[in-house]
Amino acid sequence: MRFGTKAIHAGVEPDPSTGAIMTPIFQTSTYVQPSPAKHKGYAYARGANPTRTALQKSIAALENGKFGICFSSGMGATDTVIKLLKPGDEVITSNDLYGGSYRMFTKVYEKYGIKFHFLDLTNAANAAPFVNARTKLFWLETPSNPLMRVIDIQALVAMAKKNGSIVAVDNTFASPYLQNPLDLGADIVMHSVTKYLSGHSDVIMGALVTNDEKLRDELAFITNSCGAVPGPQDCFLVLRGIKTLHLRMERHCFNGKKIAEFLRNHPKVNKVYWPGFTDHPNHDIAKRQMRDFGGMMSFELKGDKLENAVKLMESVKLFSLAESLGGVESLINHPASMTHASIPREERMKNGLTDTLIRLSIGVEDVEDIIDDLNQALQSA
Ligand SMILES: *Cc1c(COP(=O)(O)O)cnc(C)c1O
Repeated sequence: MRFGTKAIHAGVEPDPSTGAIMTPIFQTSTYVQPSPAKHKGYAYARGANPTRTALQKSIAALENGKFGICFSSGMGATDTVIKLLKPGDEVITSNDLYGGSYRMFTKVYEKYGIKFHFLDLTNAANAAPFVNARTKLFWLETPSNPLMRVIDIQALVAMAKKNGSIVAVDNTFASPYLQNPLDLGADIVMHSVTKYLSGHSDVIMGALVTNDEKLRDELAFITNSCGAVPGPQDCFLVLRGIKTLHLRMERHCFNGKKIAEFLRNHPKVNKVYWPGFTDHPNHDIAKRQMRDFGGMMSFELKGDKLENAVKLMESVKLFSLAESLGGVESLINHPASMTHASIPREERMKNGLTDTLIRLSIGVEDVEDIIDDLNQALQSA
């Protein structure tokens, strides 16, 4: 099956008891068993729920993976991967990460004796001096948030495999429509399902996908033991959202390209970060490992004045000033004070995340209206 067909059909079968074409919301905490420990795979809903099972199969299929596990949030999914590690283990990761991942790694897990190396992985060779026998995990995020840097997944997979390390990729920004890290050799794909997979800004959820049965068993054990599972209503909403993932992504990409070009040609804009530009430093890798370039981008205004950036963010009318991304509506965000406020200013600046950077999640509205809104907001900036 091709991608769009999988988005509509994978994992979903008519309900056997009624024929309902949509998977029902199994709003139950437990399942009646005919005899002690004789059940049909469903004993208690922390362990399994049929609405969740359908969604897990759907997301796994979209990532060309065998096994999917869903979580109550993207961070819950990430947390489960880090729990594969033990004190003394080390992680190779990038210096341009989702702020919440950086916060979890430094504020929660460093105190348990896990060491994280935050490196510029746009050049894979930068990781080599830090790889050793304790390196258990490579945690990659590409394209990165918010600077849209692109990491060569295959190059880092090759380095990790030689060392016996696991590779996990946060594929939230790309969505499975644009990029499939398992096909590039990664062991685990992570999604903040909250974003493109759900697509309608009405759910918080996470997911992991793998092809490795042993890893699946370990991850499922941690999930059931620690309990960050999503409820069936949310699973239903995401099953519904996924049916239009390919259609939404097509429009996100179409609009994204138009907006990136519009901004780049605007006299008040200094720099636009978008991997679709042929002169983006990682464009060649992006072209090789992604199907298209998406609707996420960041930019800076000329003059680099915070007050101008703030004025612009206060002047938009169609855009909403909000955290998050990947929904049908266009969002504008100020990483330094919002999504990435948990990264110390000094660290941010070192990695090029300035106080004036503005991030856009381009929605699926008519692109002319999005341009009109940015145009009028730029007048006042
Ligand atoms: C939002 C996001 C997360 C965290 O996901 P939640 O669903 O908010 O917990 C992780 N990584 C990236 C790239 C994100 O955008």
